[in-house]
Amino acid sequence: MTQRKDETIFTPRLIKKDDIYGKQGYILNLIKPNVYQFHAKGAGSHVYLIIGEDLNVLIDTGIISKFNSLNYLLTTEVGLKIEDINLVINTHAHFDHISSNAYLHCPIAAHRWAATKIQHTDELITKGKKWGVDLSNLKINIWLEDRNIIDLGNVILKIIETPGHTSGCICIYEPYQQYIFTGDTLFKGAITNIYESGSISEYINSLQILNTLKINCFFPSHGNYVLGEGNVQHEIETSIENAKMELESFVHRLKSKPLKDVKPPPSLYNREEEDL
Ligand SMILES: [Zn+2]
Repeated sequence: MTQRKDETIFTPRLIKKDDIYGKQGYILNLIKPNVYQFHAKGAGSHVYLIIGEDLNVLIDTGIISKFNSLNYLLTTEVGLKIEDINLVINTHAHFDHISSNAYLHCPIAAHRWAATKIQHTDELITKGKKWGVDLSNLKINIWLEDRNIIDLGNVILKIIETPGHTSGCICIYEPYQQYIFTGDTLFKGAITNIYESGSISEYINSLQILNTLKINCFFPSHGNYVLGEGNVQHEIETSIENAKMELESFVHRLKSKPLKDVKPPPSLYNREEEDL
């Protein structure tokens, strides 16, 4: 593998706002040399594309209603076809990250705890049926574990297990350039929701693991990315504190009141709205 230090400071830039597909379209940003973000407007997760010397990798495929926009921007702005994608890595099993998998012709990878849910069409976890998306017959070809390495030639992707939001969540870390794709684990200005199969104490632990890594910038699946080592550290540590407070206040109420009077906070399992 080729080890390469980060290029000089790179300023992300907007490539194109897809206006053809309206709210079903993406905004295409170049966030690193040869790394693109398909920023989801409205519903669905962002999708990331890394163009490596040996492999072109998509991180998540996004919501199915936005696939036409993904394909359009990939073809017209990046100059690649769907057939040019060599590997998909799903950050977890939720429908808004995996539902366009069906349109890809390459191997699909996910953490083994996400793979089990996807391959069993476990609607409780993937939420496909609830949102009108058919996720049956999706296959995961490569079942990932913590510390697996994927070598794209000039880019290394290291899998970091980060359960919490769901059991099969991963972050994907580039150790030489020190950036990370955080899926639904780390956001700017908000902690995640804990869904079925997830756990807030595992979530806190996962954030603490991220806090041991040297990270210059992170790219989440929803909302805005964060640049700068100090800013990243601030977001991780604030998320740890907020998640701890949420857990502690719930545990306190649990201990001080009869069980039937204690409802989990909205981010823990009894959400009024789905926000995957
Ligand atoms: Zn999710």
